[in-house]
Amino acid sequence: MARYIGAKCKICRREGEKLFLRGSRCYTDKCAFTRRGYPPGTHGRVGRRKLTSYATQLREKQKVKAIYGVLERQFRKIFAQAARISGNTGENLLVLLERRLDNVVYQLGIASSRTQARQLVRHGHILIDGKKVDIPSYLVKTDQEIRLVDSQKKNPEVTKSLEERDLDKIVGWLKIDKDNVAGKVLRFPKRDDIALPIQESLVVEFYSK
Ligand code: SF4
Repeated sequence: MARYIGAKCKICRREGEKLFLRGSRCYTDKCAFTRRGYPPGTHGRVGRRKLTSYATQLREKQKVKAIYGVLERQFRKIFAQAARISGNTGENLLVLLERRLDNVVYQLGIASSRTQARQLVRHGHILIDGKKVDIPSYLVKTDQEIRLVDSQKKNPEVTKSLEERDLDKIVGWLKIDKDNVAGKVLRFPKRDDIALPIQESLVVEFYSK
């Protein structure tokens, strides 16, 4: 499966905000955005230009893709799926992205970033209701149990992530069982559960042209 392999910190610098794409590093002084908050490239220090409405929509769409680690083709498919569901397309889009298995593993604190979560899934380390699921884009459903395989419970990256994350602040639609490195889907997420700095209406406008 294709994935973005470029420098993640450049994305934060380009979008002009911290997107927390590199796990625990994002919370340290090593964060590239903290050290160099201007856009990447030769002319980055000149400052940010005023964006046209099209560019604003484009940047928002690129930001959402970067946060969830989804490439354009797949993102378009998810958007088309969101548009087919009744209700607000922008909210449907975010709910579908939140329900992705890699995002759920990240939200449960089992991984410190969505990239690391995707790797755990791809390597077959995640079970859903006792069965291995190695598809990061798998959409979780209500009442499903997501569990890390026993052989990975001592994985130092997982242990570090669980220690560092404030699991009391876990999103309301998931429940974590820290001792068993597992979680449960209590319900589908709602827009209010998604505390990301996203203006989904701009993404809808971008694709509605
Ligand atoms: Fe973004 Fe900073 Fe994390 Fe790099 S370290 S991905 S710049 S938040």
